[in-house]
Amino acid sequence: LFEPADPAVAKELAQKVIELADRCKEKFGVMPAFMEVCGSHTMALAKTGVKLILQGHVNLISGPGCPVCVTDQKQIDAMIEVAESNNRIVCTFGDMIRVPGSKRSLQSAKTEGRDVRIVYSPLDAVRIAEENPEKEVVFLGVGFETTVPVLAAAIQLAAQKNLKNFSMWATTKLVQPVLRTLLSVKKVKINGFLLPGHVSIVLGEQAYQFLIDEFRMPGVISGFEPVEMLSAIYKLLKMVYEDRPEILNNYKSVVRLEGNKTAQKIMNEFFQPCDEAWRGIGVIPQSGLEIREKYSRFNAKEKFNIKVGEPKKTLCRCGDMICGLASPEECVLFGKACTPLHPIGPCMVSTEGSCAAHYSYMRKE
Ligand code: SF4
Repeated sequence: LFEPADPAVAKELAQKVIELADRCKEKFGVMPAFMEVCGSHTMALAKTGVKLILQGHVNLISGPGCPVCVTDQKQIDAMIEVAESNNRIVCTFGDMIRVPGSKRSLQSAKTEGRDVRIVYSPLDAVRIAEENPEKEVVFLGVGFETTVPVLAAAIQLAAQKNLKNFSMWATTKLVQPVLRTLLSVKKVKINGFLLPGHVSIVLGEQAYQFLIDEFRMPGVISGFEPVEMLSAIYKLLKMVYEDRPEILNNYKSVVRLEGNKTAQKIMNEFFQPCDEAWRGIGVIPQSGLEIREKYSRFNAKEKFNIKVGEPKKTLCRCGDMICGLASPEECVLFGKACTPLHPIGPCMVSTEGSCAAHYSYMRKE
């Protein structure tokens, strides 16, 4: 499994991590546990074998950073309803199309003849709107701070082109409020965070200082190579062992103290904070971004009067998964009714989902 750029360094580092983790366990009586916030880390840790190698020494818990996994079912139900009219085109990122809503997915709506298209960028949806002036084109805008600047750029482009038939159903998420909720409301039992690389490029290192000030919780921003992740885990262990919590930036080549000012500027120009519903968690105050009033003509939630009911409870435990309260094997559907070919929940659909990662690389035969 292990394919690091420098195998000798990775091997030595893995050994150091294991030794220090075992010393932590001896000192505190429990195995150290860290949450990887980002879905890309979840997949990278599983795919590269880092998680497997550290099994029994460090408990690596998946967090709420996969945008597909945290999207509330009601948003998918709403988009299916939008797609149900003949003169509309719904555009979405690839992963979202297979995520089941209350009854069906956008993929099944497409199979039934609705015009649902996968795009690689919201800018493609703007182009589709330009090419189809007789149709309403709606883009399902999901994502964290990494994606929001490009969502904003799409609205900016549509405004420049004065498009009347483009709008966005934005359901975006912010990292800071959900981490605060996990620690203060959900009381997740962890010793530190492996902080996301991509989101931190936009937010900057300073965005996590609250973890120290409010919770004395250490965090290390990391890249996605095995050596980078192992080195971040080692630094976390050292802080835990010495009881000296800090926020460290282990991804200095791309993450700056203050983040990307240009991305933050365009985000603030087109979006403002709002309460947002998270799958399995519920509404977290000021944890999302909505399109500003000034650009409300591009807000699909205002353009289409869609009302959806509460989704039914299912056996899927994705909600617990994104809060670090369950592991994939604890879901009774895992590997039986729910597989990557026939996914029941978003954690199995998404290429960054914890169930998909576990099924592909960690599953017990
Ligand atoms: Fe949901 Fe499937 Fe994961 Fe169970 S195994 S939590 S049903 S995605």
